[in-house]
Amino acid sequence: MDQVALIVVRAVESGASTTKGIIDATGLSRLKVDRALNALEKQKLVFRESQGSWALGIPEAPTVRECGSCTLCCKVLEVTDVGKPVNQACKHILAGGGCEIYQQRPRQCRSFSCTWLQGHLDDDWFPEKSGMVPHFGLDAFNVQVDLDCPDRWREEPYFSKLCELSLDGLRVGGRRRYATLVIVGSDRYLLLGRTIVPDPTLFGTAFVPVTRDTFRYWKARSLEHLQRLNDRVMEIQRIQQEFGSCAIPDDDDPHPPYRPALLELSKNLRLVS
Ligand code: SF4
Ligand code: SF4
Repeated sequence: MDQVALIVVRAVESGASTTKGIIDATGLSRLKVDRALNALEKQKLVFRESQGSWALGIPEAPTVRECGSCTLCCKVLEVTDVGKPVNQACKHILAGGGCEIYQQRPRQCRSFSCTWLQGHLDDDWFPEKSGMVPHFGLDAFNVQVDLDCPDRWREEPYFSKLCELSLDGLRVGGRRRYATLVIVGSDRYLLLGRTIVPDPTLFGTAFVPVTRDTFRYWKARSLEHLQRLNDRVMEIQRIQQEFGSCAIPDDDDPHPPYRPALLELSKNLRLVS
């Protein structure tokens, strides 16, 4: 998936469900957004719903549990086809659990299963009990938190598990597999291990490890900015390999060449000689 398509996916995942909403959220031109949506639609990664809005086409995953009395996803997620906004209980929820239009429920509902239902998390994470709906998107592991318990994700055993999942998403094979995002109403938090990044941008976040599970990060304001931030991160890592350490700068607007400034800063901090 190219960078523009990735940004469009992130925008849809963040709640931009119309083409105009995606343009407003990303700052991309209509041409780029239309092209990305057409390509993603052909790959069946997004689909157009009956009201003309867009939704992610997550491949259906096998489930190993049953929802039982839980209906939390029918409350916290947006379902445009039944006119249901986020964090508002769907009018079709049955008392005691279940859906009164189960056979006719929209595609968005049919294709959804949370990570607990798929068997990837233990029983502490049963959504009705935890107050969180964890689910995998195309690019992210999302945890949608019920506004009745907005800080639950910061509590144990949840926070440590989220940190573990975040590190797993960041490090496999040296390539990032997925980002870990916590969504609480209009607030979004990206987790980099135990480091919490508030309001991550759709363009991405560059980061370097400071300890085993904490990170220094810089939020990108455009694709070009992300490229420069990532180029500097690579230079930091090259210097670390060469000298054993490298100063980590505070500024978030680097310009090449990165090496001289990094070496100078490291010398000042006596990290390299
Ligand atoms: S949140 Fe998970 S367990 Fe609860 S109803 Fe939705 S899919 Fe089922
Ligand atoms: S239509 Fe049914 S499955 Fe879909 S959100 Fe409403 S209650 Fe849940």
